[in-house]
Amino acid sequence: MTDSTEFTPGDPRKPWHWHPELPLQHPPVLVWPPEPKRFLAWLFGRGILCSVHMVYIALAVVAWVFTPSLERMATFEAGWMVEIWLRNAVLFMVFTGGLHLWFHTFRAQGDKHKFDPKPLQPRDPKFLFGHQLGDNVFWSLASGITLVTAYEVVIWWAWANGYVGCFGWDDGPVWFIALFFVVLFFESAHFYFVHRLLHWKPLYRFHDLHHNNVNVGPFSGLSMHPVEHVIYLSSMLLHLVIASHPLHMLYHSFFLTTGASTGHTGYQNVDVKGKNVMDVANLFHQLHHRYYNCNYGQMLVPLDKWFGSFHDGSAEVTTRIMKQNLRMKAGAPKGAAAGGD
Ligand SMILES: [Zn+2]
Ligand SMILES: [Zn+2]
Repeated sequence: MTDSTEFTPGDPRKPWHWHPELPLQHPPVLVWPPEPKRFLAWLFGRGILCSVHMVYIALAVVAWVFTPSLERMATFEAGWMVEIWLRNAVLFMVFTGGLHLWFHTFRAQGDKHKFDPKPLQPRDPKFLFGHQLGDNVFWSLASGITLVTAYEVVIWWAWANGYVGCFGWDDGPVWFIALFFVVLFFESAHFYFVHRLLHWKPLYRFHDLHHNNVNVGPFSGLSMHPVEHVIYLSSMLLHLVIASHPLHMLYHSFFLTTGASTGHTGYQNVDVKGKNVMDVANLFHQLHHRYYNCNYGQMLVPLDKWFGSFHDGSAEVTTRIMKQNLRMKAGAPKGAAAGGD
């Protein structure tokens, strides 16, 4: 990895404070030819077992403990629904607030492994309340946590009434574990398609709110318009189609909510005392926020590569996408960056 200060104001060839080794490479999963050694290192290392996904599973366990009884959830009543909203709001705020404090308030690792040299935008009239953080927290809680809770409530209600099957550890440990991967891959593919859809002109006005964040922070991840939340979080409906366990559903929910927070920290990883302890974000999505017309999905399922919208971080691709954006600019939706911020 390159660990140097490359940013030069006004120099388009050095657009980042820090970036990983370029061109970006997809995880060694859906690649051809197969790379078994790199795949095993990914599976048992920073890809899965030593990754932030284990934190989402831990959050799922905590949430499961603080879930009302199934008997109560058999009928829709405000009491248990509010309890779930509060549990989700508290866990989201502790996790995302922790990331914000670490990276942006206390600047615990300074600019080490930070992509964009600019700080967050404390005052900007385009944001609600004229303040990026206030805007981001508002949309995350009022809309994001409320709508993910709504999906969760319907799924719990369906389970409580036996309308959908539940698949537990005793039903088959191998499939039980495999279901976490089903969620991971399904969500990664779902994100590409719904995000691409949101960039379609008639729908972009709902996605514009998220793109107000050019330089992103943890709370930017779930900062979306309610219509975008309904579309983005709809992958939760998977649990009404296939038999899964509450832990799979809750992992899915935290992947969608707190996962959006990690993906928008603006930093590649958490450094404690100079040691990289966990990868969080990726330049891949930061490139989408800066250049807009690229990297709609996630690195895991390389749909951007297959459909020709992959930005690998190289200067050549930046030039190509900037030209493409300029050509589109006349008809581009409000807020679309013509090759930059
Ligand atoms: Zn977008
Ligand atoms: Zn984003």
